[in-house]
Amino acid sequence: GSLMLCTCTGRWDPVLMFHLKGGTSDNAKVKNLPFIVSLISLYRTIRVWLKRDSGQYWPSIFHTVSAPCSAISYNSDSKRIFIGQDNGAIVEFLVAEDFNKMTYVKTYPAHQNRVSAIVFSPETEWIISTGHDKYLSWICTRSGCLQGRHCFSAWASCLQYDVETQHAFVGDYSGQITLLKLEQNTCSIISTLKGHEGSIGALWWDPIHRLLFSGASDHSVIMWDIGGRKGRTLLLQGHHDKVQALYYVQLTRQLISCAADGGIVVWNMDVQREEAPQWQESDSCQNCNQPFFWNLKQMWDTKSLGLRQHHCRKCGKAICGKCSCKRSTYPIMGFEFQVRVCDDCFTTIKDEDRTSLATFHEGKHSIAHMHLDITRGLMVTCGSDRIVKIWDMTPVIGCSLATGFSSH
Ligand SMILES: [Zn+2]
Ligand SMILES: [Zn+2]
Repeated sequence: GSLMLCTCTGRWDPVLMFHLKGGTSDNAKVKNLPFIVSLISLYRTIRVWLKRDSGQYWPSIFHTVSAPCSAISYNSDSKRIFIGQDNGAIVEFLVAEDFNKMTYVKTYPAHQNRVSAIVFSPETEWIISTGHDKYLSWICTRSGCLQGRHCFSAWASCLQYDVETQHAFVGDYSGQITLLKLEQNTCSIISTLKGHEGSIGALWWDPIHRLLFSGASDHSVIMWDIGGRKGRTLLLQGHHDKVQALYYVQLTRQLISCAADGGIVVWNMDVQREEAPQWQESDSCQNCNQPFFWNLKQMWDTKSLGLRQHHCRKCGKAICGKCSCKRSTYPIMGFEFQVRVCDDCFTTIKDEDRTSLATFHEGKHSIAHMHLDITRGLMVTCGSDRIVKIWDMTPVIGCSLATGFSSH
């Protein structure tokens, strides 16, 4: 057997559902190749699932660790697995060639509190991790020594790492993303990215296009064009709940985002999208000139009552409710749901401008983590219900996947 799932699971047996669908196909298409999934849970066992010839999955490894697992990182080349724990430690194991055994290697005292994310960098042999002690730390796996640490003002919740330039992206509970350059024993802050109004739930770094994607508890996703160096950001609003997992498919330029309500959105990033405007500040409606309620002088002068300030999502103008009673989607700016637009903008939006630039799917469980095996088009979602679902994503992410990879 060989389709392999590597999971940390609960005290009860996990239910594996081969809910292999997506888009139009309901057919299960799990191919017999090794397959790794990272699932994070607060419990104490690590399981490696193998797909047997019968088509059933069986745990080939069932390993109990000393403390609940909170993060996992697997390096398929070296078969090294790093488990972050609730007590702040990271434990390294080596998985056997046949995936039937896991050998303990070392324990690294990385954090004082729950490990939230781990990245293993084979080039430097560092394990880089974030934790609920507000620290980013990086440890040399050869010496077992802590190389450096950086403290944030909020819990660090997620992490991405650019191997080539040694830059780390750290998302935190305040909604801020910090870009740091890691050195042998020190680090420097390059910039902070502010745009979210809630804790960062997921980050995804694409080193080829040099794009960073962030998902947050404010239900939104932001694409940060780091490589473009002009501070260009695209807002993507298509979820009704906290965004908790992201994956960018380089080849087809599709972004997959998953939320706590089970919503899965596949965004077409291969179109010319527009930046959402900054919201303008004004003391009176920029359309009808009526004062907003805090503008006492104008209210006195014109003997009129102040109005509530709203903003047109398309032009960013400060506008009163009367001048912005219309709602529209505007997918090119990432507004897949109806948002407030001013009367002027509403008339400029044509029917074809309302064509959705994303597809919407239902995961039917609260998705806490997600991984995509791009070579097979398989997506795994791990729910807070402790269920692992495997999805065939080829109907969604296109046949171009198979052709693209076979030509390499
Ligand atoms: Zn007005
Ligand atoms: Zn407008």
